Formats: sequence, C-alpha cells, structure tokens
Amino acid sequence: MNIAILGAGIIGVTTAYELAADGHQVTVFERHASVAEGASFANAGVVAPGYVTPWAAPGMPAKVLGHLLARHAPVRVRRPLAAADLAWMRQWRAACDPATYAANRTRMLRLAFYSRHRLHEVAARMAYDFDRSSGYMVLLRGDRDRQMVQPGLALLRELEVPFHEITADEARQIEPALHPHTPLAGAVHLPQDEVGNCRQFAVILRDAAEQLGARFVFNTAVSAVDTAQTATLYIAGETAPQRFDAIVLCAGVQSAALLRPLGLRLPLRPVYGYSISAHIPEPVYARAAA
Ligand SMILES: Cc1cc2nc3c(=O)[nH]c(=O)nc-3n(C[C@H](O)[C@H](O)[C@H](O)COP(=O)(O)OP(=O)(O)OC[C@H]3O[C@@H](n4cnc5c(N)ncnc54)[C@H](O)[C@@H]3O)c2cc1C
Repeated sequence: MNIAILGAGIIGVTTAYELAADGHQVTVFERHASVAEGASFANAGVVAPGYVTPWAAPGMPAKVLGHLLARHAPVRVRRPLAAADLAWMRQWRAACDPATYAANRTRMLRLAFYSRHRLHEVAARMAYDFDRSSGYMVLLRGDRDRQMVQPGLALLRELEVPFHEITADEARQIEPALHPHTPLAGAVHLPQDEVGNCRQFAVILRDAAEQLGARFVFNTAVSAVDTAQTATLYIAGETAPQRFDAIVLCAGVQSAALLRPLGLRLPLRPVYGYSISAHIPEPVYARAAA
C-alpha cells in the first residue's frame, strides 16, 4: 500500500518504521524541520509499563478539584472554559467510574507491555545505540509517600511486575548520586523498568526507516485530510491534493482538529508537564527533586 503518515513524533517515526518493514510505500509529512520536535523532544523517557494507568480514575475528580481550590494551587485557570472544554470534562468524569477505568487500564497495560517488548526487539536491530539505563526508583520521603504508593504496588503485584520495597541505604547503594542529606524513608525499585532518550531513539529509527524505503518530507504542514474517495491530504500553500491508499494520523494533539471536518470528534486535550534533564558535574552532590 501507498501510505501517508502525518507527524514525525515518536508515534509517526515508529509507525513509519513498522510499515516500511512490512513492505509498504511510506511518506511521512512533518511541519517541523526534523523528527521528534514536539512532545517527543524532551520527555522524561521513562519506560515503566506497570505504572501505566489512565488519568481518568476513581477519586481523580475530587483530587483535581482539591488542587484547583487549594490556596497555593499549582494549577490556575487563565481563561474562561469553552463549551468544548466543559464537554470534554463531562466525558472525563464519566470515564472515572470504576468499570470504565478498569477496562481502559487493561487496554493501556496490554499496549504498554507490548510496546516495551517491541522496543527491545527494534533496538536490538538498530545500527546505533541510544542513551538508556535500566532500573527505575520511586523515592519515598516518609510514611505519607509510603501510603500513597500502596494502590500502585497492589496493581504491580496483580500484574506480577517485579519490584522491591527497599530501605534508604539500599536506595543509596543503587543510586550513589543521591545526596546523603536528602531525606529518604525508603524507595520502590523496579529492576525491569528503564529510561531512554526518546528523541535520540527517533533520530536513529528515522535513519533505519529511510533505509527500508520510507520518505520523510519536513517543513510541510498538512492543512486538511479527506477520505471521500481515496485518502487525500492537502499541504498548506499547495492547491493540488496528494492521494494515498491510507493515511495514518500521528499528529499528536493536532489530530483532533484535522479529524473534526470529517465528523470525527476525538476527545483529546493537551496536558502540559515539565521535566528537567540536568547535567550534574559532581554526581555525588545530586539531590532528589522535591
Ligand atoms: C514533560 C513530558 C514528560 C513526559 N514523560 C514521559 C515518560 O516519561 N514516558 C512516556 O512514555 N511518555 C512521556 N511523555 C509523553 C510522551 O512524550 C508523548 O506521549 C509522546 O511524545 C507523543 O508522541 P506523538 O508522536 O504522539 O506526538 P508528538 O511528539 O507531539 O508528535 C506529533 C508531531 O506531529 C506534527 N504535526 C502536527 N500537526 C501537523 C500537521 N498539520 N502537519 C504536519 N505535521 C504535524 C508535530 O509537529 C509533531 O512533530 C511525556 C510528555 C511530556 C510533555
């Protein structure tokens, strides 16, 4: 098949690689000048499938409301909520009911474990390695933290994901960079989880996909998609449409806007998070972030 992929984030690049490996003719359209310039650029890179869980969970509405009402709330609403936001919030609240949460969690976990399995298979075949390290530790500051992780640990036991509840001393042995003055009651160590450089992985995999025949077209924004006859897409600033046998939408949060004219309303809203990758010249002085 002749397939167009919209977006060259980690989802677009991995999709391009898999489809090219299966013998399809693949063209990836990306509005930026390179791969992984959006959400895939500088994420935390944690690969911890056992920790994957829907944010629409029982108890979450009360928790979010608590944050919004707190005196020193980290979340501030800067503009009035639009009707679409309110509709999304109603859907989100409905998805927090225990049965929907359980069904969604099962689906997400199945996908997450398969993804990790595939990551290892693909990484073993890549020409270059990417920055990665194995093991994942959740630091516990005190009894409150210990209480808070219990539901997560129950889920890990249920899934038979190996983990160890360890003392502060054991945590410092595994991670000698932890500052001795960092208050620590203990930690949860997941030896099979890992962290990897998402952007670097995407750059290397793009190369592998190109070697399999995939074509990447950068600095090219797609303005519309149409499924009326064959799968058609329109490039911003060009009048002639481009036709394919299929289009795979990997445009992140922008996917919702591209699908709306087709009558498909994806309940997708962006969530903004921040992660810091810091160079630590003296590893022995690293402190765990609060
Ligand atoms: C701070 C932070 C920390 C995170 N930590 C983790 C973590 O530890 N572990 C984890 O698994 N996940 C983490 N995530 C989530 C993860 O980064 C995202 O789920 C993932 O990167 C999404 O990839 P994507 O390819 O769907 O989207 P993106 O990387 O955003 O790619 C979408 C691409 O589509 C392109 N595009 C959009 N519209 C068009 C158009 N019209 N025409 C052409 N191109 C278009 C965009 O330019 C972009 O390059 C984190 C996210 C953030 C923000």
